[in-house]
Amino acid sequence: MLISFVGNPRHVYMEKKAVLHSCQQIKIRYSKRVYEYVHQAIPIQEVEVINVIKEKYLRRVKVVPGKKIELDDFPTGWAQDKDLKDSERDEIKERALQILEENRSALASAQELLWASNTYAVMIILQGMDTSGKDGTIKHVLSGVNPQGCKVHSFKVPTAEELDHTFLWRYWQALPNRGEIGIFNRSYYEDVLVVKVHPDRLVNLPPGKSGRKFWNARYEDINNFERHLARNGTIILKFFLHISREEQKKRLLARLLDEDKYWKFSLSDLAERRFWDDYLDAYEEAIFSTSTDIAPWYVIPADHKWVARTLIADIITSRIQSLNLSYPQVTGEALEQIEEARRHLEEE
Ligand code: ATP
Repeated sequence: MLISFVGNPRHVYMEKKAVLHSCQQIKIRYSKRVYEYVHQAIPIQEVEVINVIKEKYLRRVKVVPGKKIELDDFPTGWAQDKDLKDSERDEIKERALQILEENRSALASAQELLWASNTYAVMIILQGMDTSGKDGTIKHVLSGVNPQGCKVHSFKVPTAEELDHTFLWRYWQALPNRGEIGIFNRSYYEDVLVVKVHPDRLVNLPPGKSGRKFWNARYEDINNFERHLARNGTIILKFFLHISREEQKKRLLARLLDEDKYWKFSLSDLAERRFWDDYLDAYEEAIFSTSTDIAPWYVIPADHKWVARTLIADIITSRIQSLNLSYPQVTGEALEQIEEARRHLEEE
């Protein structure tokens, strides 16, 4: 009997006979989905490849709390990994896209449960250099999710009103309700990134230098804010879409060479590119200072959009599934009412 689990039963390959047996064991938790997935069993070679993707990448992309990081140690692309270079890239890509598709529908179901159980909220933070693919990730990863249970907020340069409050104020207003997935396209992390690279943009603050003490205080505020949210039922997942400088050049050029993409181009993207190393330093410091068990950072290789999207979809889906939510049980009087209503309609 050969059973190979890759994280959860969606990615499982089983011999026909073993399928039934195994299903009996895992049916209780995964019932319908297991049956769906085992029917499209995946060949074992591909499972191994997926194992490589998940084990190699997932372990590498999660930032261990308290461990100093250098972003250069994190891959931005696919081919930099020797084991994966040797595999058939197109095949892997095809399979990864399939996983993305599977995760999309699994995420839709997970979100429904999240909504029905009304206990947890999920906050997803997307950060990355210009052109790193934040918008596309949102579009592709969440395309199957019921829009009613999902809110996207894109944070721009703060308004005068926002600047008249403390730096976390505007994010409070945008937090997801219980049962919702909230996506922050840029976030309060900008307040330790762009303003760290350009301290002249720190305005309306009491006098004092924006030195190490100032930034450490902001990291502390962020950690306290996230701790408060987590303690009250918000699941926090933070993704840094890590692209290489060369890939950004390609994407900016693509915007300049294709009329249909002109609208995406902004001169400020070019201006910010000159501060690439300063941004990397700011990201390293921020990620190191705020990756915690309750709100981990994932440094996602983003030179290939399909790699980034597949990984992110997988991490979000697995995290919600790990909550082991179930639909609220209807019992007692409410159950009697349901039975009564059913009889009534059937007899009509
Ligand atoms: P794309 O990546 O697709 O180009 P974008 O996220 O860059 O889109 P823009 O409207 O072009 O969207 O840029 C938003 C700008 O707002 C960024 O330059 C970002 O640094 C800036 N910004 C966001 N939050 C803050 C903040 N708290 N303080 C100062 N600037 C901020």
